[in-house]
Amino acid sequence: MLNILYKNNSVNYKIVSVEGEDFYLVPVKDIEVKERKVAFVVGHIPSKQGFYSTALGATEYEFWLKYANDNLKSLGEVFTHEDIVDYTLRQSKMSKLTKDFDLVFELHFNAFNSVVDGVECLVWKGNKKMLEVGNYFCREMVKGMSYDNRYAKDISTGNGAGFLEVTKGDAILLEPFFGDNTLDCAKFDIDIYTAIIKKTIDFYYEQS
Ligand SMILES: [Zn+2]
Repeated sequence: MLNILYKNNSVNYKIVSVEGEDFYLVPVKDIEVKERKVAFVVGHIPSKQGFYSTALGATEYEFWLKYANDNLKSLGEVFTHEDIVDYTLRQSKMSKLTKDFDLVFELHFNAFNSVVDGVECLVWKGNKKMLEVGNYFCREMVKGMSYDNRYAKDISTGNGAGFLEVTKGDAILLEPFFGDNTLDCAKFDIDIYTAIIKKTIDFYYEQS
């Protein structure tokens, strides 16, 4: 028996199939089919574009702007920050644009000393659900592209904390690899990454 919720013209249906028989629709009352509201925010701004990766030939801003426009529009809405250098002010403005979204990603890559490698992500301190979601994302990066797992970190200070703090919905800042580590950059596969983001969104809504 397979049950799938289906919504058409504000009426909810359950698609029911018994093995070996046809599918049929059964109207169901009192079941809310939740519409997904996901936002992707490109990290950094045109006048301060984040780290420049020699291996990728792009800054964080350039890389994720192109990536998001090419790959993420079917999964959610893509936002770029206003070109405001003051971090707190621009995050505060962005939080007004994303306030009605359930789940908000900010897109980055890491950089340190060209030796350190791996995937990590940041969530707001105490948000246990997002810590689970973040660790799911990291595990999928290990499975999908063999990145070292640096795990999800729940923070309340430091880089990225401002975004996590002011975002009204659940927020997560992704650092899938180190842009100054040549091997990390070579491992990155755009299609696998998009599939992992999609799975992460599915995982998030399964926890709701
Ligand atoms: Zn960044």
